[in-house]
Amino acid sequence: LVRLRQRLSRSQGGLGKGLLALLSRERLDEDTWEAIEDTLLTADVGVAPTQALVEQLRTRLRVEGGQAPDPRAVLREELIELVGTDLDRRVQVTGADGKPGVVLVVGVNGAGKTTTVGKIARILVAEDLTVTLGAADTFRAAAVDQLATWGERVGVEVVRGPEGGDPASVAFEAVKHGVDNGVDTVLVDTAGRLQNKAGLMDELGKIKRVIEKQAEVTEVLLVLDATTGQNGLIQARVFSEIVDVTGIVLTKLDGSAKGGIVVQVQRELGVPVKLVGLGEGADDMAPFDAAAFVDALLG
Ligand code: GDP
Repeated sequence: LVRLRQRLSRSQGGLGKGLLALLSRERLDEDTWEAIEDTLLTADVGVAPTQALVEQLRTRLRVEGGQAPDPRAVLREELIELVGTDLDRRVQVTGADGKPGVVLVVGVNGAGKTTTVGKIARILVAEDLTVTLGAADTFRAAAVDQLATWGERVGVEVVRGPEGGDPASVAFEAVKHGVDNGVDTVLVDTAGRLQNKAGLMDELGKIKRVIEKQAEVTEVLLVLDATTGQNGLIQARVFSEIVDVTGIVLTKLDGSAKGGIVVQVQRELGVPVKLVGLGEGADDMAPFDAAAFVDALLG
């Protein structure tokens, strides 16, 4: 939590502190409520969720005789509620019947897929799980090399194919390697060329099918760059039409003042944010927790 707070405070701190400052005003007049709305909208919370939240705050903070409730506590509770406490945010990394769990990592290029694969591998290895990485983004030599570097850094095997080769064949070989070696988890990095939606759909569909001949796809994680705002949301929607996404990884939260995107993307896709990226380093990834996130925002 301390790290989360440090990372978020640089970029997001404005949201929580701004809201708290506004709520601490002597009189919560219309101007103040408008300023609160603006603050939430600027943080990408989205119009409908912002209105609902402000409505809730107004109702709860209305003084009806007796003592006014502590705005800080009310804000914290309502923000946690908004971010969601009843979502299953566990990442299923292991499979059944002694077979590996297979985690497909999808998203547009540049969102942070390869980095996310490396960071997840690092977490799993620290938990004494065995891991194989599949470099199925065969179209970008740099992506394959980058994954190979992560493999070396974390100390796990990376299965790669020839440059420009068939991504599904790399995914197949990676899972085969995992099955043959009794590995716990196979993480598959995929390509994200959204320009050709039909092509990408075919490719991801084929990757899934060849994997499912050998083991279960236990998670499909969609990586989303928090700094891309509405654009990122649109892309996320397209991906969710292409493949059954089971969880969202929100990257670059360290560099964005738009943490409210958590709320919007969960509503849009009906899928929980499960992990957040907080920097470029190997240890800069954390499981997402609504209360910890809100506490970090509020400082
Ligand atoms: P991919 O094309 O989706 O595989 O994206 P990459 O994993 O190559 O990441 C693109 C860039 O974003 C790289 O420079 C990463 O170091 C950077 N990056 C990834 N995740 C994060 C994050 O959580 N925070 C920050 N600040 N940078 C990140």
